[in-house]
Amino acid sequence: MASEIFDIAIIGGGPAGLSATLTGRIRNKSIALFEHMDFSKKLQQAHLVDNYLGMPQITGQGMMQQFIAHCMAHNPTVIREKVINIFPGDNIFTILTPGDTYEARAVIIATGVVATTLFSGEKNFLGRGVSYCATCDGMMYRDKDVAVISYAEEGEEEADFLRELCRTVYYLPQYKKAPTMRSEIKVIHDKPKAITGDVVVENLVMAEENLKVHGVFIIRQSDPVENVLPGLELDGEVIKVNRDMSTNIPGVFAAGDCTGKPWQIAKATGEGLMAVLSAITYLGKKDK
Ligand SMILES: Cc1cc2nc3c(=O)[nH]c(=O)nc-3n(C[C@H](O)[C@H](O)[C@H](O)COP(=O)(O)OP(=O)(O)OC[C@H]3O[C@@H](n4cnc5c(N)ncnc54)[C@H](O)[C@@H]3O)c2cc1C
Repeated sequence: MASEIFDIAIIGGGPAGLSATLTGRIRNKSIALFEHMDFSKKLQQAHLVDNYLGMPQITGQGMMQQFIAHCMAHNPTVIREKVINIFPGDNIFTILTPGDTYEARAVIIATGVVATTLFSGEKNFLGRGVSYCATCDGMMYRDKDVAVISYAEEGEEEADFLRELCRTVYYLPQYKKAPTMRSEIKVIHDKPKAITGDVVVENLVMAEENLKVHGVFIIRQSDPVENVLPGLELDGEVIKVNRDMSTNIPGVFAAGDCTGKPWQIAKATGEGLMAVLSAITYLGKKDK
C-alpha cells in the first residue's frame, strides 16, 4: 500500500479530472490523479474543436496538450493505473488498482462515459465471465479460452498478459491501427454483438461467427461507472449529482461526462472546478 494519504483522489484525466486537479493543487491540496490510458483518448480524436472559449479552431490533441501542460506545472501525483474499486471507510477511501492500493480523504469521479453501446449480456454476466481488467481477473481463466474486445491499443498488453495464462486468446480490435502483439494470439476482425451463456459466459456472438469462450474481457476508455464504486446512486446510466457535484456517498463527488449531458468540454471543466471546491469544503468541515 502506498504510504501517503492524499487529500483528494481524482479518477480520470480528461478535461473534468484535469480541471479538478489544477484547482486542487492551486488550493495546495495533495492530489492523486489516476489515468489508465492516454489522457482523454476520446477528445484527442477530435479533429477540430471550436466551441471552447478562448481556444478557437484547435485540434482535440492540441487542446489536451495544453490542459495537461497547465495541470502538470502544478505537480500533482499522477498514477498511471486503472482504478478498479473504491471502498469508502471511516473518513478514508481505499482505492484499488491492479498494482497497488491508495488512500484519500475525498474522491472525485471523472471517468467519462462508455462511448459505445453495451453488448447484450454484458451487464448480466459481469463477474461470471465478463471482466474489464485482465490483471485483476486473468487468473480465473487459467488454461481456458477467452476473447478480448478492445477499443484502444492498451488492450494489446492485456491480451499478451492473458496469453501467459489462457489456452486461447482471441483479440478483437475495434480500432483502425493494426495490432502488434508479442505473443501467439488469434486476431479476429469482426463486430461483437452479444455475450451469451447459461449461468456463466459460453459464447461471444459476432456478426459473422460465434466464438466458444469462457471469458470476455472488454477494454474501453471508460467502464460502466457503477462497477468502480458500488452503492453510487445513478440517474439512468450517469451519476446522480447535486448542484455542488456531491453524490449520495459523503466525500464522493463527480464531474464531466459521467454526470450526464451535455457531453461538452466546457461543462466538464466547469464541473471539475465545482467538484474540487466542494471536496475542499467537505475536507475543511471534517478538519474542524
Ligand atoms: C470525436 C469527438 C469529438 C468531440 N468534439 C467536441 C467538441 O468539439 N466540443 C466539445 O465541447 N466536446 C467535444 N467532444 C466531447 C468531449 O470530448 C467530452 O465532453 C469531454 O472529453 C468530457 O471530459 P471528461 O473529463 O468528462 O471525460 P473524458 O474526456 O472521457 O475523460 C475521462 C478519462 O478518465 C479515464 N478513466 C476512465 N476510467 C478510469 C479508471 N477506472 N481509472 C483511471 N482512469 C480512468 C479515461 O482514460 C479518460 O482519460 C467530442 C468527443 C468526441 C469523441
